[in-house]
Amino acid sequence: MRVVIVEDDDGVASALTQVLRGRGWTVRRAATAQDSLPLVDDADLVLLDMGLPDRDGLWVCQEVRSRSSVPVVALTARRHEGAVVAALRAGVDDYVTKPYSTDVLLARVDAVLRRTHGATVPVAADAGFEIDVDGRRVRFADGDLVDLTAKECELLRALARTPGEAVTRAALMEEVWDTTWVGASRTLDVHVGSLRAKLGDRAVVETVRGVGYRLAPDGPVAS
Ligand code: CA
Repeated sequence: MRVVIVEDDDGVASALTQVLRGRGWTVRRAATAQDSLPLVDDADLVLLDMGLPDRDGLWVCQEVRSRSSVPVVALTARRHEGAVVAALRAGVDDYVTKPYSTDVLLARVDAVLRRTHGATVPVAADAGFEIDVDGRRVRFADGDLVDLTAKECELLRALARTPGEAVTRAALMEEVWDTTWVGASRTLDVHVGSLRAKLGDRAVVETVRGVGYRLAPDGPVAS
């Protein structure tokens, strides 16, 4: 996932960068509206501070919209209704008011990505594959395709959102099977088994004892 942060406050930008890199995402930052535009063309997500030193965030948003459909989440201290309406009309996908909690921001970002990246989910830049959700398959960097069932696909997507980080059994059950009934979780292990058999050592699903599963962060194993 390639993220562009447009934010003039160094402290805010570096805290956000750290959190997003912790998810295995690639982060680039621009401190002004002018500097941001060359970065957005190959971005998967833009986090946009609306109060920038040179041009208004609304201007950036309109410029971004004129060239791409990349999801934009606005970060702003402006809470009044008129500002929210203006941002939404300019094409932002969601709106988070400052000060925000990191958890709330990430939850909003994930919701926006689920809506907008439904078809193809790019995972960490070095993962070496992407997930074609509609086509129910994984496409490796060398062009190889592996077909998945719908549930295997959702499971891999849930794990690939945070490579290298454990995802709890409860979270996986809730996201993929819409249940937190632990009695059903044998189903989870069966699906992890079939996913491992299909992906081999190219995308390794590791067991985190007592917690759940995680996608190995190192991408495909060199042969
Ligand atoms: Ca600012």
